[in-house]
Amino acid sequence: MSELTTERSWLDLPASHVFGLHNLPYGCFVTRSDDRPRVGVAIGDHVLDLTAAAARLLPEYEQLFTQGSLDRLLAAGGSAWSSVRCAVRAWLTDDRVRPVIEPLLIPVAEALMRLPFTVADYVDFYASECHATNIGRIFRPGSDPLPPNWKHLPLGYHGRAGTVVPSGTEVVRPCGQHQTPDGEVVFGPSTRLDIEAELGFVVGTPSSLGTSVRLDAFSEHVFGVCLLNDWSARDIQAWEYVPLGPFLGKSFATSISPWIVPLAALDAARVRPPTRDPQPLPYLDDTEAEPWGLDVRLEVLLNGHVVARPPFRTMYWTAAQQLAHLTVNGASLRSGDLYGSGTISGPEREQRGSLIELSWNGTDPLVLPDGSRRTFLEDGDEVVITATAPGRQGTTVGFGAVRGTIVAAAG
Ligand code: CA
Repeated sequence: MSELTTERSWLDLPASHVFGLHNLPYGCFVTRSDDRPRVGVAIGDHVLDLTAAAARLLPEYEQLFTQGSLDRLLAAGGSAWSSVRCAVRAWLTDDRVRPVIEPLLIPVAEALMRLPFTVADYVDFYASECHATNIGRIFRPGSDPLPPNWKHLPLGYHGRAGTVVPSGTEVVRPCGQHQTPDGEVVFGPSTRLDIEAELGFVVGTPSSLGTSVRLDAFSEHVFGVCLLNDWSARDIQAWEYVPLGPFLGKSFATSISPWIVPLAALDAARVRPPTRDPQPLPYLDDTEAEPWGLDVRLEVLLNGHVVARPPFRTMYWTAAQQLAHLTVNGASLRSGDLYGSGTISGPEREQRGSLIELSWNGTDPLVLPDGSRRTFLEDGDEVVITATAPGRQGTTVGFGAVRGTIVAAAG
């Protein structure tokens, strides 16, 4: 699809706006005066009510939006994604339809954002070499920080789809078993509650059981990208994860941002991923393929202070390789499948996407500008993750934010 970003919207947005015509992310919302869920597209400081706009101007796709979630759009596949995106751009640039569209623009502050789609299956990966190396150094000092399989396959686990929650949902401090430093096994609220700054990839087009999705079919299946915070209780996780991997230490909540940025908006953000050594097996070898590294720059804020700026472009495995690996055994995809990239950490201290790395397992507390100190999260702490990426012709693509506040463990 050809996208001319020189086109101007009658909204007369500044070219620097992160929600300009070049972005057009999708979400779901209600308002205080109208609690019917609707699909929206972010444009400037407004949300276009796409459910209402399609009913008036796009009858062939109207049914995709009547549910008020992205589920049907996700399932409709690439040609529908392209047609709808084209139509929205046309409406916002054509003065003749302005009288129809303008009344359907809702100030962003009035839109109460909901979970944008029904999460089918949820998988989380472990694809940042810097993150995996840091974790290895913390937990296995003196030995090779990366497990022997790490550079041969994108490691991951199947998580809990039902506890993926929209940005703004309070996170109740989880309780569970953990082992104290002197070896006693106890039960209680986690005292090592952490974040993991990640991107989430949203699957639209399903695949059939018994088939696999090749690297070059990535963009046929993946609709778009959101921000994801994989809340993690390190004490519960450390006690339970051998030998089967993460379980209750992560399944209590995973937060995602309200806006799904379409892959089509990220063309200018694509970059070559880092060189892989050893060369991956053929189904994962993207040396000759179109690159799917992404220059997405995240920011992690703790109580309003930036504590990290993780660079997604440093990720060792791309989302295309993760999808190829996820399906190489013939496991099928469903519309609404969500997979997390894994914690994003760069080589510098201020690029680490988790508190366990930022505080080096609690031994080197973060000191915030207000003088407060943190190793892990305290009740009342608010974490916000935001991100931007380069857009076409010098524009910037915004991802919005995923936020969550910790509340005390249930009594
Ligand atoms: Ca994770």
